[in-house]
Amino acid sequence: MKISFLGTGTSGGIPVINCGCQVCLSDDPCNKRLRPSIKIEVDGQYLLIDTSMDLRQQLLRDPMPRIDAVLYTHAHADHIYGMDDLRRFNHLQHQPIPVYGSSSTIHRLRQAFGYAFDLPAFQNGVPNLISNIVDKPFRVNGTEIIPIPLWHGKMEILGYRIGNFAYCTDVSAIPQSSYALLQNLEVLVLDALREEPHPTHFSLSQAIREAQKIGAGQTWFTHMNHKIDHQRHSALLPERCALAWDGLILKIENKK
Ligand SMILES: [Zn+2]
Ligand SMILES: [Zn+2]
Ligand SMILES: [Zn+2]
Repeated sequence: MKISFLGTGTSGGIPVINCGCQVCLSDDPCNKRLRPSIKIEVDGQYLLIDTSMDLRQQLLRDPMPRIDAVLYTHAHADHIYGMDDLRRFNHLQHQPIPVYGSSSTIHRLRQAFGYAFDLPAFQNGVPNLISNIVDKPFRVNGTEIIPIPLWHGKMEILGYRIGNFAYCTDVSAIPQSSYALLQNLEVLVLDALREEPHPTHFSLSQAIREAQKIGAGQTWFTHMNHKIDHQRHSALLPERCALAWDGLILKIENKK
């Protein structure tokens, strides 16, 4: 299994428009963060988790030959507004693309992109998508995917586990029952917005505590804002915790 971080920034991206702070002005490429999304190559197929509004730019930089499915964590703007760019893959693949999410996420996707669902026939120029509501483990072409319920403030959203990898972005609390789904991970990706507490995201210190409680082989933090300086904050982290960056690639042995 190969994981590529397409974007590790929070909703506004880094640099922030018209911001003169040290991180936004930094030359460190690890401080340039597009909106959150990852791609996964597993069992010979290509998956995306979320379609950030930077998707076109991300896939020009880090191409995918095809997209077999998209898993949505939730329907906030930074995670969904690149969806229209899926139409290029429909055009290349000549078939609809299945998308997966909770019932509330799928409901909001269908409101925002009504023109992309339930098309009577294949159409060029728009995405051709098939929505799938998930609330328990499911398979995409034979690969098992386990949805992980998470709290994003008062909103229930989903993380996803594939093999011994899990992606949990936009999380401020993990329900007790979800810890059982996060056992024996080789790699965990976890939200860590900034140092200060936030109502809908883990702070860096909360994320470190959760990482240690879950005990994955390695935990990578994502969805960071411009108060997180890659070099300075990386030096403060305990063992087996690190800040992800746009372009980071992880190779994981896919134990089933
Ligand atoms: Zn977000
Ligand atoms: Zn800034
Ligand atoms: Zn969100």
